[in-house]
Amino acid sequence: MNNNETIAAIATGLSESGISIIRVSGPDAFSIADKIFKCSDNKKVSEYESHTIHYGFIRENNEIIDEVILSVMRSPRSYTTEDTVEINCHGGLLITKKVLEAVIRNGARLALPGEFTKRAFLNGRIDLTRAEAIMDVISADNELALKASVKHLRGDIFEKILNLRNEIIHETAYIESALDDPEHISLDGYSDTLKEKINSILCELIKMEESALDGQIIKDGILTVIVGKPNAGKSSFLNMLIGREKAIVTDIAGTTRDALEQHVRIGDLSLNLVDTAGIRSAKDEVEKIGVEKSKEYLKEADLVLFIVDSSIKLDKNDLDIIDLIKDKNVIILFNKSDLSSVIEEKDVTDKFKDLDNLRVLKISAKEKTGIEQFCDLIKEFILDQSISSNNELLITNERHREKIHEAIESLNLVMDSINKNMPEDFMTIDLMSAYASLGEIIGEEISEDLADEIFSKFCMGK
Ligand code: GDP
Repeated sequence: MNNNETIAAIATGLSESGISIIRVSGPDAFSIADKIFKCSDNKKVSEYESHTIHYGFIRENNEIIDEVILSVMRSPRSYTTEDTVEINCHGGLLITKKVLEAVIRNGARLALPGEFTKRAFLNGRIDLTRAEAIMDVISADNELALKASVKHLRGDIFEKILNLRNEIIHETAYIESALDDPEHISLDGYSDTLKEKINSILCELIKMEESALDGQIIKDGILTVIVGKPNAGKSSFLNMLIGREKAIVTDIAGTTRDALEQHVRIGDLSLNLVDTAGIRSAKDEVEKIGVEKSKEYLKEADLVLFIVDSSIKLDKNDLDIIDLIKDKNVIILFNKSDLSSVIEEKDVTDKFKDLDNLRVLKISAKEKTGIEQFCDLIKEFILDQSISSNNELLITNERHREKIHEAIESLNLVMDSINKNMPEDFMTIDLMSAYASLGEIIGEEISEDLADEIFSKFCMGK
């Protein structure tokens, strides 16, 4: 990437709106703006003070393209740390495109996805965890995911990783110095100190790695499979959650033939809901496909919602379903609680082995009762309590989890070497590998290819 080039892109969404913003960053940002922006004060953009905004027109060849507001941010006080102008034009698709084209014709190049943020990173304004958090903040679709991303944006992961790296480098430097100068620096008894230090670093890293499971669930949504025999009320329940009549609700058994996935926000969390075709002995081919699909989804599921029709007796269909789900996290929803119940909770829960993985709730999909309790239950059931109370640092990025895992493996090797009384220089090799893995998280040690890959996933104009 050549930072001498000036880049431009539409920074707002590509739909008709009140305004659109075209961002221009790089050494020629002001001179390009000078060529096309005319303000009644007749001043040049390059003469404006930083962080000022100006009303005027975008013109080319004496033709007015749009009436705009232009903001000026001088290097290094901008998102990219480069000279930047942002043109607020009218938000029509055609007009926005015309303003962008004028900027490009006058010397800018169209920015690649994420290129502004990549420049902010390469120019040292933000580390890689903050750069990645920017995208996560933009794409967060529930409160917990947003809170976690904002923490990362604030630099919580960066600080934590930086501290752990400092501890590692401190020990490495001590060993290296002792090896270089054994007369003055002694390693006698040092292995106990090192063991203690590595243990404490390992504890921190393991805690972070474990948080990634919740992190992923929060970021990507809880894969939730709804099961229940035909007519138990699966579609009605799904509709109650979605609040729209999307799934077809009907009295005819087995109407919902195809597995159907819906992304639903429940309180602070997102669920990826899969309504199954009804797991029972399939008589025709189409239904068989549905049953197979349901089983596949069940294998992957983070959570199973087992809808039981509490107004009729349990039958073989219910028992077959219980057989398939008894090892999963299951919430049994006793539906049709508006009707008189003919089954007890115990009749169903007794059939499960592990009650820790089981929760029970009475609902009525018809009367729309039990939804609030359902939201609370999911949060309590699925997330570690420290996470839902939001005190812990949460790893939501798979790349970070992989690097933390690598660092843990290297530090385990250091522990092995200590336990086997190996020479200290063995330990420094693994200490440095852990140091490097953690460095990759914050972007201290990453290749150009990896940076390209990370930023290519960003949206246009960011
Ligand atoms: P599915 O086959 O499991 O998807 O079941 P549906 O959602 O299609 O519901 C089957 C029938 O049960 C429909 O007539 C619904 O109106 C009815 N039903 C669903 N939930 C309730 C409920 O909570 N109470 C009562 N009384 N009827 C319900």
